Amino acid sequence: MKRLDLTGQKFGRWIVTSRCRSRLRGQQRLMSWLCYCDCGKRRWVFAGNLNSGASQSCGCLRNELIAKQGKRNATHGHRRSGKGSPEYRSWRSMLTRCENPNTLGYAFWGGRGVSICTRWHSFENFLLDMGPRPKGTTLDRFPDNDGNYEPGNVHWATAKQQRHNRRSPQKRSK
Ligand SMILES: [Zn+2]
Repeated sequence: MKRLDLTGQKFGRWIVTSRCRSRLRGQQRLMSWLCYCDCGKRRWVFAGNLNSGASQSCGCLRNELIAKQGKRNATHGHRRSGKGSPEYRSWRSMLTRCENPNTLGYAFWGGRGVSICTRWHSFENFLLDMGPRPKGTTLDRFPDNDGNYEPGNVHWATAKQQRHNRRSPQKRSK
């Protein structure tokens, strides 16, 4: 069976990752793809619903349209902090500590000149470059621990790996 590869494609607010799975429903094999919404939520979405345009977001798009029409103001708070996928939370906190001088961490990142490349101001690009965040890891700058957040200098790493990376090679005087 020919399988349509949707990796990296954008459907409304969805961005499709390379992870897909199929399930047999009756005689039909249904493909779904792991997708990330612009708002940071992730979900498995049926390929058919992506291709047909039936699904364009996790639901936030519809909520915003409804809110805009003034029918339901209760949906305004849907981007509450702490919501969203692990990748989205990492991305958000990276932006905050580098670019918001009003936060505690800024002194150690943005205040020390650490910046984020233009490409990564978009969550979509960040996700494409970094991929899903493995359990127990956070963003680590490597090989240049004093360098910027940009492709090639950042990876997902556990606390243990990060301690190891910090141990800069001592110059031996001999
Ligand atoms: Zn959303």
